[in-house]
Formats: sequence, C-alpha cells, structure tokens
Amino acid sequence: MQLYCESLTHYKRLATREVKIGDLLLGNFHPIRVQTMTTTDTMDTIATVEQSIRCIEAGSELVRITAPSKKEAENLLNIKNELRKRGYSTPLVADIHFTPNAAEIAARIVEKVRVNPGNYVDKKKFEQIEYTDAEYAEEIDRIRDRFTPLVKICKEYGTAMRIGTNHGSLSDRIMSRYGDTAMGMVESAMEFLRIARGETYHNIMLSMKSSNPLVMVEAYRLLVKTMFDEFGECYPLHLGVTEAGDGEDGRIKSAIGIGTLLEDGIGDTIRVSLTEDPEFEIPVCKDLVKRYERSPKDGKTERPKDAAGKRENSSGLADLWTSRLAYSPFEYKRRETFAVDNIGGKHVPVVVADLSKIEKITPVHLQSIGYTYDGITDKWTIADAAADYVFTGNQLLDFALPGTLKVIVYPAAWELAEDKTKYFPIYSDSGYADAENKSARINFVMVDCSGEMELNNYPYFDQLANEPSVVLCLSSTNSNAMQSVRAMMNELIRRSVKNPVVLITDSGWQTPDEHLIHFATETGALFLEGMGDGICLGYNSQAQMENIQSSGRTYLEVKDIYQFTNNTAFSILQATRTRISKTEYISCPSCGRTLFDLQETTAKIRAVTNHLKGVKIAIMGCIVNGPGEMADADFGYVGSGPGKITLYRGKEVIKRNVNSEVAVDELINLIKESDAWVEV
Ligand code: SF4
Repeated sequence: MQLYCESLTHYKRLATREVKIGDLLLGNFHPIRVQTMTTTDTMDTIATVEQSIRCIEAGSELVRITAPSKKEAENLLNIKNELRKRGYSTPLVADIHFTPNAAEIAARIVEKVRVNPGNYVDKKKFEQIEYTDAEYAEEIDRIRDRFTPLVKICKEYGTAMRIGTNHGSLSDRIMSRYGDTAMGMVESAMEFLRIARGETYHNIMLSMKSSNPLVMVEAYRLLVKTMFDEFGECYPLHLGVTEAGDGEDGRIKSAIGIGTLLEDGIGDTIRVSLTEDPEFEIPVCKDLVKRYERSPKDGKTERPKDAAGKRENSSGLADLWTSRLAYSPFEYKRRETFAVDNIGGKHVPVVVADLSKIEKITPVHLQSIGYTYDGITDKWTIADAAADYVFTGNQLLDFALPGTLKVIVYPAAWELAEDKTKYFPIYSDSGYADAENKSARINFVMVDCSGEMELNNYPYFDQLANEPSVVLCLSSTNSNAMQSVRAMMNELIRRSVKNPVVLITDSGWQTPDEHLIHFATETGALFLEGMGDGICLGYNSQAQMENIQSSGRTYLEVKDIYQFTNNTAFSILQATRTRISKTEYISCPSCGRTLFDLQETTAKIRAVTNHLKGVKIAIMGCIVNGPGEMADADFGYVGSGPGKITLYRGKEVIKRNVNSEVAVDELINLIKESDAWVEV
C-alpha cells in the first residue's frame, strides 16, 4: 500500500478485515453496503418498525436506531422481534452517545452498536486542559475501564461495533492535545480501537464523519495510514458526511466527501445523511455505489466497463507516480498558480457555462446562468451564482454582454470577434502550438489526460508551461477520469508548472441525481486536493441533455438543464469551500431524539435567510448532540425541549429555551444583532 490507498491512478479497493453483522458480511471486498438511520421515537415500536421496513424495502442493508437511554435500548428488543415477525432479518444497529449502560443492554439485543469515542466516557465541558503524559495515560486507563465491559459483551454475543468519531464532538481531552484536527479525530478512534484489539475483539468498523467534506476526507485517509502503520492492517470503514442538509446541497456535499474516498477505493459501507425521510437516502447511496461494480469472477469490486468495453485506462505513469507525489493528500493546500486575468492566483475558482449546444443564444438563455436582462431599463441583474465565462463553440453573440461575463470560442470564431476584451480563444494543445494568432490576454488550451499518454513525454509541456496567457483545460474520457486528471495535476506541480487549470467534466449518466453525483465526485475530489482554478460541467451528448429524466425514482427535478448545471458547479465550489456564493446550512438528519420537525423548520429558516451569502447556520434536533456536532456554524438553532429552542452564536448560548413559535424571528434578530444580516 502506498500512502493511504492501493492506487492513486486506478480504481483498486482497499483491503480491509472482514466483519460480520448478523448474517451480513462487510469489508474484505464484499459489496459496499448501504445503510440509513430511523428518525422515529425509539419508544414508538410500530412507527420505528414501519419506518425501518420502508428503509429496508428501499434497499438499506443495515438500519440504525438511536438508543439515548436504557429504556430505548431495552425497546430495541420489541422492535427487533416485530421486524423478525414481519419477515425482515436486516441487521439493526444501536446508536449510542453518552450512555455506556444503554450500549451494554443494546449489545445483547441488536447485531451492532455504534459508539462515539468523543462522548462514550467523557462529558464535554469545552475545557482546555493541559495534560502531562502521565495524566493522559490515566485518562486512557479510565476509558479502558469504562469501555472494556462493552467490548466483552460484544465478543460474547457476536455483536459488531462501529467506533464512530464525529469532528464536532471530540472530547475535551482530544481537543486539548490535538485540537480540532483530522489527527485528533483519528486518535480519538485509535484509543478505543487499541483497547478493543487488546481484548482480541476485531468485529469492528470505524468512521470519521464531519460536515466539512475536506476534514472528513483527510481524517479517513489519515486513519487508514495510521492503522496500517500501527497494525499492518485496516478495519472496514463506514463513510459519511454529517449534517449534510437536504436537497441538492445535501447530495453534493455527501457525494464530494463519500465519492472522493470511494474513488480512492476506500469505504466498505456508506450512509448519506440528509434532512429528509431516511428512505430517501438510499437511492443516493445506491447511485454512489453503483459506480463501482462487483466482478463476477472473484467478487471483488472494480470499476465498471466503459462504453468501449475497457475497464480502465492507465494515466501513463501508473502507480509509479505515487513515488513522485508532489502534494500532501493529508492536508489542504491550493496548488500554486499565477493569475491569468481573473483565473488562478488568489482568485476564487471561476465557473464556465457551456452553452455551445444552443443554436442561437439570446439574453433569455443567460438567465439560466445568473444574468437577468431588463429590456426597459436596459440593465442586467447579476446573481451571486452567475457564471464568469460562457463557452459558445463557434457562435459570436449579437447582443451586448453583461459587464462581468466573458465568452470562450473556437479560434476561427475568435479571429472574427471584434471585441477581443470579451472573447477569448480555446485551442487544442497541438492547435495552440501551431496557431499564428493568439490572444494577448487569455488563451484556453484543452489537454486531454486520457488514454495511454505518458506524462513524462507529454509533447506540449514546453510550449504551454508557464506561458503567462495560458489557462489549461484538463479533462479525461477515461473511466478513471478523476485519477487521470489528478496524475496530470501532480505532474504540473512536480515540474513547477503554474498555469491555472479549469477542470472540464462531462457526464454520461441519465438522471439528474446521477449527473449530480458524477459531477460532485469527479470535480469535488480534485478541488479537495487543492487542484482547480475553474470548473466547467457538461454532458456527453445533446440527446442526453434533452432527455434528462426528472421523474420516476429521481429526487431532483430539472426544469432548466443550464440552470441545473450552473447551480451544481457553484454548489460544488461551496461544498469544497473554495468559493462561497450562498448561505450554508448544517442540518442534522434527525433521529429519535429530535425535538421538532426538522424538515419543515429547515425549509422555514432557509426561506428567510438564503440571501445571507457566506453565513453558516446549523439547525440541530437536540441539545444533547446538536451543539457538539454543529461544527463551525456561525449560528445555531437547537431543540432544547418540547416546543423550546436554544439559539447559539458560534459555540456560545445566546438565548435559552425560546418558544418555538417565535424562534425563527429570534434567530433573525440574533443575526441582525451580530451584524451578519443584510436586507434582500
Ligand atoms: S443532533 Fe439531530 S441527529 Fe444528532 S442526536 Fe440530536 S436529533 Fe439526533
């Protein structure tokens, strides 16, 4: 194994230990299992059973149920019995926070327990404590005393366990020593894992969840490396992004975090946490997982064949380039580039909208990409999520453009364009090398990273490298496209080539959900590596765009494909925190602890705050876990009792137990008092 995965250039699944959850096998190249969690009150047996059945019917292979105290843990028996009576044998998972005694009961009943090492033994007081090594060792002994009984019960009953670290709920001990870091998350889980191994208990999987995909990806990678370094083997990994939210944004955030790791061959089971009914999470999980199929030959997971029947293409240097890795996959650092006009350097990544398939572009078409024209005043209104460039193929536009929009065209059209401050050419690499006329400001150059291109011998490096007007547009038609582009990016870094790069990604999928996941996975993975100064999303064919299916099992409805594509590009940049263009919502998926209707409340809060660009608002169902898990939100709206809401600014309680009828108004007041409010 190199670094943190089996291959950085091909899809190769990470080898992990096999674990058994009831009759379900997980890890060791078994299919990537999909799962979800109920949102009903665990004491309501029938409601929980019926929701579990809806999840199972949707395809959930494991169902998690919260057990906040002993009585809920005990009621898991009734839930399990009723499910078995109705013919469902799907393994159940008890979700435990703060209550070892509930865990010890649940471990005797259900097939798996999930513990959070941040709060299994510790109560969070947000204290910064200076530990000596001896004091720290004493703390570990205290954990051992409290955790070992559960390990022994799991061993005796054949119960599996997930050690599930959450970025937002690290213990004071971990925070004091490691801070709010990926390493802290890893160490939090490793402390528990070492104790379990000491008891020769191995029926374990781990998770490193965060609402920030960047932190989450780094933590999983670091965990894999740490396990291999320390044990020489890896336990299966449960992937998830917490509090991802709902709708398109929730799906994009999840796809970026989970998809990036799946691309690296990491992940044995996944849960997509959406603020929606849990059965709606399963199709998203399935869309993520079906990108990797099981081989009928040996049952191992591999990349599906592409249209040409090939499994994968090499990106040239194969895995050799891992020994030439020029960036750290464990910490974010944006690739250093020089600025070409407003692309690269310190500029936020630009969005390029591909309108080349429209026969005759009019001002109305620009509305889909954020520019609304008012004929009476002859003025353009520009949205926060307005594309920076538009690619029109061979078409020159016959109307005056909004001030901030520029046009990319093929060289022949560019030659004819009168306003060379608005129009810029895009060349193939060989075309650029041969061109007589070039723009003095920006030349876009397409570089295809597909096939068996030897990066070592890429013939155009010399002509393109560090040319001050050249923006590279990287793409690949390989089935392992992300890895192929990443290999080229690595080569650019290694050779100190500092031209900015626009990532071009086309989708060959069918439904809006599939496209969304494809775009988020392929480009999101690269933005998380600090690679990319622009994004351009497109489709393999015109017919595919026209026939985009937005009915049936698809969740997302697409009325305007260009608007969908443009919004997706901005949402990817937002989720990777490379360009903030809207309010960010961190909302918990809800569970049996939830004290109000999360979906309805999230929609209400969203409706009145969605113009607050860059503000992060957390909407959390309960005060037990909510404050810990709302991560780096600026404001928090947290259920603190039936009909009661507690409002936070950062981690500080500002208003306690506000009546829920006026809580949204109070939240607005709080945002105003904090000078974070702007009028629409
Ligand atoms: S924050 Fe939300 S999902 Fe987490 S325990 Fe509370 S109600 Fe459940």
